[in-house]
Amino acid sequence: MSKGIVVQKYGGTSVTDIGRIKSVAKRVVNTRRAGYEVVVIVSALGHTTDKLIDLAMKITTSPPDRELDMLLSTGEQMSSALLAMAIHKLGQDAISFTGAQVGIVTDGSFTKARIIDINAKRIEEELKKGRIVIVAGFQGASVNQDITTLGRGGSNLTAVALAKVLNAKMCEMCTDVEGVFTADPRIVKNARKIDKLSYEEMFELASLGAQVLQPRSIEFAMKFGVPIHVRSSFSNKLGTIISKEVKAMEHIVVSGVALNKNEAKVTICDVPDKPGIAAKIFKDIAKENINVDMIIQNVSRTGATDVSFTVMGSELNKTIKASKDVAGKIGAGDVTVDKDIAKVSIVGIGMKSHSGVAADMFEALAEKSINIEMISTSEIKISCIVKKSLGEAAVRAIHEKFGLAKSKR
Ligand code: ADP
Ligand code: ASP
Ligand code: MG
Repeated sequence: MSKGIVVQKYGGTSVTDIGRIKSVAKRVVNTRRAGYEVVVIVSALGHTTDKLIDLAMKITTSPPDRELDMLLSTGEQMSSALLAMAIHKLGQDAISFTGAQVGIVTDGSFTKARIIDINAKRIEEELKKGRIVIVAGFQGASVNQDITTLGRGGSNLTAVALAKVLNAKMCEMCTDVEGVFTADPRIVKNARKIDKLSYEEMFELASLGAQVLQPRSIEFAMKFGVPIHVRSSFSNKLGTIISKEVKAMEHIVVSGVALNKNEAKVTICDVPDKPGIAAKIFKDIAKENINVDMIIQNVSRTGATDVSFTVMGSELNKTIKASKDVAGKIGAGDVTVDKDIAKVSIVGIGMKSHSGVAADMFEALAEKSINIEMISTSEIKISCIVKKSLGEAAVRAIHEKFGLAKSKR
């Protein structure tokens, strides 16, 4: 009698080499032998995806997105076949598939495709035969049968989406840390593992730079109520459970600190201070499919003002071009760029009902003489832009100020 379906995702850090693949195989087989039906989603080995991108860049800096997806999807195909072999070697039946083979249908936006449908019939048939099913993460196929990928970290999305259609008991994200911590443990040595987080908080932490889960996968999990357990690939300890918000979560004001060093600040100088100008600037930028993050507009004293905003580093070149074009059209001045920035953010649902949190964050930075260049706030988060070289010190100062090493949820 089956105890139900468990989806386990193993990230690239858990399958860096053959030794690690063999350990993952053992872990998967143990879960199967404990009576669960197991569907495994696997990422490409270690830094394979980055290496594949580097290869493409040696040919051209702007490869066709379709061909990039053909290339990148091979990383996950390789690790899933190797894992299937390692499971066979342990005497358990397993079968590996690409995303397309298990009916993951996406739209046609290469490199960041959205899942539009999953036909899980094949997976269900294989599970019924008693097999462990392994699915290459991060990929699907469009209705035209072109291979697509789901954006960096996309194996998380494959896992959550399959957990949903298979009605799995749990979606386990097995990784190289023991769960989600109050800050990146590589930066803050005394960061503490969080036992429980709401989808909203995890979504914000991930969007603001905590790389442990892909934001889109949490959005999906939140929409369909898929329970997530982030845990270590190397032990059986309980990790972090991500679920719907419950009342008890509110007493912790700040649950975590995140750092993003991949943004850049663009300033359009001497922008005429007239109604409709901001709309014009940001409409033109949006037309180029650029996501703008923080925006500030200074007070004008002379009828002209500077408008600054941040974008992802990978979209900087497009943004500079679009900004120069629009600056010309509206009679603004130069466009300047600052890549030397980092965004440090705090997240917590308790912020909804506590005041003075922003002031404490600013004070933590002031105590370390860290200057704040931009600020943005929302109901459950506060972000500050600081100099890139001070980003990690800022995370440590804030972590300390809010006593996160000791707070317990
Ligand atoms: P995987 O290969 O399993 O997908 P990633 O490297 O993508 O793993 O994500 C795990 C890494 O995320 C950890 O090694 C850790 O350094 C980093 N990280 C950043 N912020 C956090 C956080 N708040 N909690 C846990 N890990 C974090
Ligand atoms: N291999 C892909 C990446 O590095 C997908 C993933 O690991 O989730 O982004
Ligand atoms: Mg990852």
